[in-house]
Amino acid sequence: MGQNALDEVLPVPHVATLPSRFPAASRLRYMDAPIRDVLTPARELERQGHKVLKLNIGDPDAYDFAPPEPLAAALREAATLGRYADSEGVPDVRQAIVKYEKESRGLVLDPEDVVFTAGVSEALQFLFGAILEAGDEVLVPGPAYPQYLGVTCFYGAVPVEYPSSPANGWIPRIEDIAARITPRTRAIAVISPNNPTGAVYPKAILKAIAKLAHERNLVLISDDIYSELVFDGETAPTLATEPGPCIILNGFSKNWLVPGWRAGYIAFKHDGELADIKEGVLRQARSRLSASYPIQIALANAIRAHAPHLPELRRKLRERADLVVKRVSETENLTLAAPKGAFYALVGVPHNPWSTDKEWVLNLLKEEKVLVVHGSGFGQSAAGHFRTVILPPPETLNEAFDRIIRFADKTSKK
Ligand code: PLP
Repeated sequence: MGQNALDEVLPVPHVATLPSRFPAASRLRYMDAPIRDVLTPARELERQGHKVLKLNIGDPDAYDFAPPEPLAAALREAATLGRYADSEGVPDVRQAIVKYEKESRGLVLDPEDVVFTAGVSEALQFLFGAILEAGDEVLVPGPAYPQYLGVTCFYGAVPVEYPSSPANGWIPRIEDIAARITPRTRAIAVISPNNPTGAVYPKAILKAIAKLAHERNLVLISDDIYSELVFDGETAPTLATEPGPCIILNGFSKNWLVPGWRAGYIAFKHDGELADIKEGVLRQARSRLSASYPIQIALANAIRAHAPHLPELRRKLRERADLVVKRVSETENLTLAAPKGAFYALVGVPHNPWSTDKEWVLNLLKEEKVLVVHGSGFGQSAAGHFRTVILPPPETLNEAFDRIIRFADKTSKK
């Protein structure tokens, strides 16, 4: 599929098209990072002396959360380890991950099938680098974490959103997924708990997706990075426990509160069917030498199932999600399907006087000094919304929503 076809799927070319003496590669045209991009105008306001309430990035440690003490202590101990690690990850951390996955959610994995990466971000780059040819298609959740769109396009492939909507609690319908499979479809990716909607997919839809993928020979990808962050219960249902091959992406940025450690993994649950793809991932892992050695040793010594920090983390998230739901309900100029997990709320703006949700977000920033992310950055299904994190303490969330509601009420009358 050529660039024109991509223009149809992704109507917003993201890279500036001004003539340049040293132009960057055209494959970067669709590689957008909306969550970080909105920071530029916010920083400009800060340079002018304004204080901006930033609700744009899913980093708990930017608010009142911190790495759990056992992890911090283990890293202090590992600080003298300066060498490169094994490209696939050191045996100790791969074993610790297998034990953790077994004890926390009953997954049976082989340490040989686990590759340690610099976050799920790197895992996703390796995975899509291993499976996609130009013109291939990947079924991604609509809406999705933006990297799923950007990395797919980077490899010349096409992200095809399977839609979901607030009316359905942002849970997709199996017929909408099946209807989008073509001869070029290579993979189905699921993110649950979802970024940006906070939806937690029920077992029934996960079962149906796994069955569909296996019947149609599609690679099944389960992004489980928020697996332990549900407001009801302990772990979210996952595709990974369904029968048949599955590629699991998981990491430490969210459940373990250490996004800056840049630590994650890709696990292949299979009976050999995924060996080619695993080798493709390993080739890329070798070419970047290794992920951080001390981080791997610290995690190997500190991670365990039912970690003690989790109940309090879930309690705070639930309380803050409830607060956001309550605040949104105060005005008819905002809408929200209540999140059930993760760090986010995807809030609808039914009366937007501008032509795009990004303009609404940038005007909110200019007038009220509150930074959120435009929904369309997460794909067409989220257009007309903005994503806020629910991470800040209640007083900050209340202050932010005082301003957001004032802005929504004022601009809806324009
Ligand atoms: N996948 C999802 C669904 C995410 O929300 C994020 C980050 O917000 C990532 C992957 C990347 O996480 P990291 O690279 O920090 O592991």
